[in-house]
Amino acid sequence: MDHFNYHQGHLHAEGVPLSRIAAAVGTPVYVYSAATLRRHFGLFTQALDWTDHLVCFAVKANSNLAILKLMGDMGAGMDVVSGGEYARAKAAGVPGERIVFSGVGKTIAEMRQALEGGIRQFNVESEPELLALSQLADSMGAEAPIAIRVNPDVDAKTHEKIATGKSENKFGIPIARAREVYAQAAALPAIRVVGVDMHIGSQLTDLDPFRQAYAKMADLTRALRADGHSITRLDMGGGLGIPYRRDNNAPPLPIEYGQVIRETVGDLDCEIEIEPGRNIVGNAGVLLSSVIYLKHGEGRDFLILDAAMNDLLRPAMYGAHHDILPVNEPRLAADVQPFDVVGPVCETGDTFQKGADLPAMMAGDLVAFRSAGAYGAVMASEYNTRPLVPEVLVDGDQFAVIRGRPSIEEILSRDTIPEWL
Ligand SMILES: *Cc1c(COP(=O)(O)O)cnc(C)c1O
Repeated sequence: MDHFNYHQGHLHAEGVPLSRIAAAVGTPVYVYSAATLRRHFGLFTQALDWTDHLVCFAVKANSNLAILKLMGDMGAGMDVVSGGEYARAKAAGVPGERIVFSGVGKTIAEMRQALEGGIRQFNVESEPELLALSQLADSMGAEAPIAIRVNPDVDAKTHEKIATGKSENKFGIPIARAREVYAQAAALPAIRVVGVDMHIGSQLTDLDPFRQAYAKMADLTRALRADGHSITRLDMGGGLGIPYRRDNNAPPLPIEYGQVIRETVGDLDCEIEIEPGRNIVGNAGVLLSSVIYLKHGEGRDFLILDAAMNDLLRPAMYGAHHDILPVNEPRLAADVQPFDVVGPVCETGDTFQKGADLPAMMAGDLVAFRSAGAYGAVMASEYNTRPLVPEVLVDGDQFAVIRGRPSIEEILSRDTIPEWL
């Protein structure tokens, strides 16, 4: 459930008509709903209310400082995958004790930044990383709390580009070798083993892969304890999917996901960490865009928008689907016809949807891409020298620009022409 609904024929974000935001900020623009974010975060904390837990928002899904502050103020932790994201979490007021650091390629500079600024745990993904972290922490007179990311070799049954828990993926340490690597970790200076970590993929719409992976995690935890390690935290990763099509069977709910965690690892008396990204912010955002031209092609009509693949990359990158809604509700459902909805970028891949059922529209009419809050703005670029897409946060009847649109002058000023040219 989200807070983007029609009122008197006009699509709103909470109490604000999207047309008002378009008039004030221009298009394309991302619009987020604070009430939806709060609601989704609440569903995850409820799903784990049977145990000690920390919901660590996956910053890579949406890293705007205002979004991070909103989440952090509700008590969320953060899962970061770079020094930049770590700095964002801190700038949003989240203390280091609530930040976990994931990722296969943490650099020495990034690990130092986290050790200096405070960190809840590093989710270590390889032996070379473990050795580098130990040496660094030792040289700083610090101690690095770690979990090892274990690859359980389960099929997440999701898109191949976002599956991470099969042995052929680059992520984590194969579960068969986990005990050996934990033994190595325990023997290293300046390393403190605190837990076990997994993250098997994104946009999972079935609970079975989670159940299989978490059952393996439970067995491993028992084995590690028998080996003498103190395992007090289990990081279950993120990945719970969202409905991208309104008419589709909805994926499992957070409460059902929480039950799977309880059934598989609930008896181990560990603090539970989860790292949802998409499920919290995906349906809390839309991309608002205007029609530039309606173009009649051969056997098809094109709706050319002012949003493009550089603003919302998911359709071009993963063939992802986003429902497209007209901001002015058509009076009769029968008034719709199929359009190929495209952007202005010079790539055929810049196609959002073929044959989308939409009412006849004119230049200047507005459309909204649903479910665009996660992996939307964060993946945006300035390809074709299109200014980086701005972001707006709505809360009740108020809205604020939380990232402004850069001017063309600002964009050009980042380049330098060497003197000798
Ligand atoms: C991407 C990622 C997440 C978040 O995944 P979602 O599908 O957005 O919930 C969580 N943990 C790690 C380690 C990730 O890489």
